[in-house]
Amino acid sequence: MPVLPAAEARFDYEVPVVVVGAGACGLTAALAAREGGAEVLVLERDEKPTGSTSLSTGMIPAAGTRLQARLGIDDTPEAFVADILAKAKQKTDRDMALAIARASGPTVDWLMEVHDVVLTLVEGFLYPGHGKLRMHATPHRSGRELEAALLAAAARRELDIVSGALAEDLYADADGRVRAVRFARPDGTRETVGCRALVLACNGFGGNREMLRRHIPEIAEADYAGHVGNTGDAVRWGEALGAALADMGSYQGHGAVAHPYGNTMTWGLISGGGFQVNVAGERFSNEASGYSEQAVEVVRQPGRVAWTIFDAAREKPVLGFTDYEEVMALGGIRRAGTIAGLAAALGLPADALARTLAEVEALRASGATDRFGRVFAGTPALAPDYCGVKVTGALYHTQGGLRVDPGARVLREDGSALPNLLAGGGAARGLSGPSRWGYLSGNGLLTATVLGRAAGTSAARLAAQG
Ligand SMILES: Cc1cc2nc3c(=O)[nH]c(=O)nc-3n(C[C@H](O)[C@H](O)[C@H](O)COP(=O)(O)OP(=O)(O)OC[C@H]3O[C@@H](n4cnc5c(N)ncnc54)[C@H](O)[C@@H]3O)c2cc1C
Repeated sequence: MPVLPAAEARFDYEVPVVVVGAGACGLTAALAAREGGAEVLVLERDEKPTGSTSLSTGMIPAAGTRLQARLGIDDTPEAFVADILAKAKQKTDRDMALAIARASGPTVDWLMEVHDVVLTLVEGFLYPGHGKLRMHATPHRSGRELEAALLAAAARRELDIVSGALAEDLYADADGRVRAVRFARPDGTRETVGCRALVLACNGFGGNREMLRRHIPEIAEADYAGHVGNTGDAVRWGEALGAALADMGSYQGHGAVAHPYGNTMTWGLISGGGFQVNVAGERFSNEASGYSEQAVEVVRQPGRVAWTIFDAAREKPVLGFTDYEEVMALGGIRRAGTIAGLAAALGLPADALARTLAEVEALRASGATDRFGRVFAGTPALAPDYCGVKVTGALYHTQGGLRVDPGARVLREDGSALPNLLAGGGAARGLSGPSRWGYLSGNGLLTATVLGRAAGTSAARLAAQG
């Protein structure tokens, strides 16, 4: 993945704006660049674009949208940014967080109203750390639906997406101005396309075990549930061009990936008052801290597995979530009228599970804080039918990456912008601070869509300047 001298580039054609990656970030960037008046070419390594976007539950958090207003939800970018900063323990870039929160509402409105992406508000429970209902998701809460909706929007604008095009090398001037991109086709042939601005929308390095071991050893050996083609190319090109990297130890994990199915079991089951036990039927952590940090806790348990315990009342709001329905159809959700029956269905020790449930209900009733720091008060007691699902912990995507400004321009260590390089989504530094604990639900698609739109807008402007 080298960056080669621009003088060596031999290209037959030039497109003003080239975008690498056709996930949520790349497609949003391409739509915005076209809106800004630029011709755009999207290079996507897969024959059929999917990205981590398709693997996600497709939830985009945004504050102050017209949809929220219609439903009477009083939310503001300031409230949103407070939630982002609280989750990241104030250890992220405050100005970037505010700029992104401010742009989130208009970006979701733009996707819905200009590009006909159908989103509805997720109601029934708050995602951990969010003070307001602000998750905007496709009707079936599915990233596949989101990706399909963005591809349809791109098709309506007749955007060129070259699939089966693995971007391998960049050609750049000594000052970091990118002049061309060389990409490989599945038959091994190579083509080079010139550009005036380049958007890196090829996500982070979750698919690169060597980079994970270097930057995030604690999660390097866990399952990676994201797109395997995200191998850190943006970070490596950016570094070679003189870009600053930040928060490389940051990531989104998930502590409830249905095992062995691989589907996300929404955290609403936990935040509504459910809990997790290990093979001994015992709790082992404060599950309410957040699903990202819970990944490591689950991976530390025997067999790297745990069971999420909930009930029919907590299940109700998540019925209709594609991931949940799939696991249910495959028999992964077990249910029983008694806790002993549930223990038998899950293969857990009945006495221990009954003891754990009794402890949880006593804590819930008393309002006390448990030994892990969790407070159950405010959620209703579990009642028959009891439900459970076996889960593991996984890495979803990395949150560290190229430092960018609110216009998605990639920055050098001294804060100056590289001449014509933009980045967003998982390619850019996120808003989650330096580690696993700072990821607020939805931070991934938030920066994919908001920075994607900003990158496309900036790229069109830079390309017009020549
Ligand atoms: C299971 C799961 C659930 C999630 N749920 C949510 C959620 O509900 N809400 C949320 O906010 N976030 C969620 N996330 C995170 C979210 O999916 C990502 O943050 C987001 O999709 C990133 O978008 P992106 O466009 O940056 O990357 P991607 O969607 O991964 O797109 C990157 C694209 O770049 C392509 N590519 C990579 N390298 C090259 C190359 N060299 N040349 C050409 N193409 C290349 C890849 O093939 C890929 O298609 C989830 C992630 C996972 C794994």
